[in-house]
Amino acid sequence: MSAGQLNVLLVDDESGTLRLLSQWLEGAGFSVTTASDGCQAAVAIEAACPHILLADWMMPGMDGMDLCRWLRRQETPHYVYTILFSGRSGDDDMVRGLEAGADDFLKKPVVHGELLARLQAATRVLDWEQRLRELAAADVLTGLANQRTLYECMEREWGRAKRHHYPLSCVMLDIDFFKRVNDTLGHAAGDTVIRRVATMLRENCRTSDVVSRYGGEEFCVLLPETDERNAVLWADRVRRALAATKIPVGGKEISVTASFGVAQRLDDTQSPETLVDLADQALLVAKRSGRDRVVGFQSIGQSSQLQSAAEGAAALFNHLPARTVMTTIVASLQQDEPVGRAANHFLRFRFSSAPVVDERGKLVGMLSEKDVMAIMLMPNWWSHKIKDVMKTNVVYYEEDTPALSIFEFLCRVSMRSVVIVNDGRPTGILSRGSLLRWFTNSQRNETFAGGEEPSSARGAELAPRLSAIGPRESLLLTARALSTEAAALELRLRSDDDDLVPCLVGGASRMQELVNDLLANSRYANVHDEWSGDEPNASFAGAHDMQTQRGLVGLVGNLHQVGSLDA
Ligand code: GH3
Ligand code: MG
Ligand code: MG
Repeated sequence: MSAGQLNVLLVDDESGTLRLLSQWLEGAGFSVTTASDGCQAAVAIEAACPHILLADWMMPGMDGMDLCRWLRRQETPHYVYTILFSGRSGDDDMVRGLEAGADDFLKKPVVHGELLARLQAATRVLDWEQRLRELAAADVLTGLANQRTLYECMEREWGRAKRHHYPLSCVMLDIDFFKRVNDTLGHAAGDTVIRRVATMLRENCRTSDVVSRYGGEEFCVLLPETDERNAVLWADRVRRALAATKIPVGGKEISVTASFGVAQRLDDTQSPETLVDLADQALLVAKRSGRDRVVGFQSIGQSSQLQSAAEGAAALFNHLPARTVMTTIVASLQQDEPVGRAANHFLRFRFSSAPVVDERGKLVGMLSEKDVMAIMLMPNWWSHKIKDVMKTNVVYYEEDTPALSIFEFLCRVSMRSVVIVNDGRPTGILSRGSLLRWFTNSQRNETFAGGEEPSSARGAELAPRLSAIGPRESLLLTARALSTEAAALELRLRSDDDDLVPCLVGGASRMQELVNDLLANSRYANVHDEWSGDEPNASFAGAHDMQTQRGLVGLVGNLHQVGSLDA
């Protein structure tokens, strides 16, 4: 490191000394910032950590010794070489200074030549420190990042992906039958192959990608802002390039192949370790299914049936926002309320879980019957606060998120539902059940609308087909069921029941499902009159859906008030 690459923070309460030493340091090529006491210096260090701290011992407030002690407690990005200068130069003073964390001393008044000589010693130490740091971060054989550095970078990228909703993918690759290279050509040839693969990976990556040697002949590449589909494409390009590469070893040329596993971070992926594990599972499948191939985690266990269902869903959910398909939330729980109240809520509403909100009504968690049951053996379980028992990692989407994205998400994870929010406030639940219901209804009607079998078997398999009735009759049946449900509700409301909430909520939920069915079917309502052979007019259907849905939200909104007053 040259002086020009080093930042010196100079701290002294005497402005004359500050000026003079600054001049000397800048004259020697260092870049210098100054502070006039320990507190100011601490702020400056937090803002931009210097390489060298040059501080006066005696200062009002936080003195040089305090500053040293404070600095050594901080987690700085690199070592800060610290020199104290002072009029005191007794042996005891030196020992105290060293104990506080100083590296060196200068006697006041500071002499120009001595200052520069001491800084030279500092530069040598910092040079070594940087070299050691680089060695610790890199893999010795390939110079790639090692596993520890990979996870450090991953923490950073993880945060960025979460904050900005960027995709983040991880590729694990392992050289095929590598042991044979070692066994037939020797360990040194094996090393050459590992180095060549490392170079290839580096050459095929963007500067923002993180390429690491994960272990032996295994590599892990982190691809920020890349979804699984594109990561698979990237991996396949590298796979083909590697297979075509001739590697010179011991006077001849050999070629190797590798297997790749790819996974993308999803909203419910717990940690960087989990993401690597998913990619590793995909890699295992690549190995088990013949090697020299790329396997994306998404494709594991996804039958061709599910895949074609997803294609069908893409057409069906196209342009539909989550709010159109979701089930409206009847009541949320307050995080500061006691668990006993939540248990009561579950019993009365016959719900198995509910979103939890803070005092501003914003979603902070989810509480389920299971969470309540888990603490029921504790003394005074009912008085625990909901916030201490609820799950906080709830997956949520804004109301205008395309329903298709949520469909794809729920296809891949074990989770059954997600919360839909409007400006952070929970407004609905979108579950596999409600999507399937919507999907089934539309599949059924698509068969009628098209007047022919669906292009693939997807409709036939996913939708229990009603053989004899057309869409209009089907709508009629649903409308009739709705009025029966409404009449039953009216009857119950006229009765002398004390607790109306469960019957209100139950009845309204069933009506809401029926209304959802009507909405799903409405796209096909006019197929006999206006069907022209094209896709039904999606924008018309969308506008209509929205209107009816708003009416419904109003109805349930009123119910919500009844519920929360009562509960
Ligand atoms: P597979 O296709 O299933 O991955 O077969 P493989 O032979 O590549 O798998 P295995 O994991 O059994 O063998 C990996 C070998 O890599 C074993 C180990 O001796 C060797 N190895 C690990 N690190 C190094 C290294 O740094 N240099 C060399 N030359 N060999 C290494
Ligand atoms: Mg291998
Ligand atoms: Mg291996």
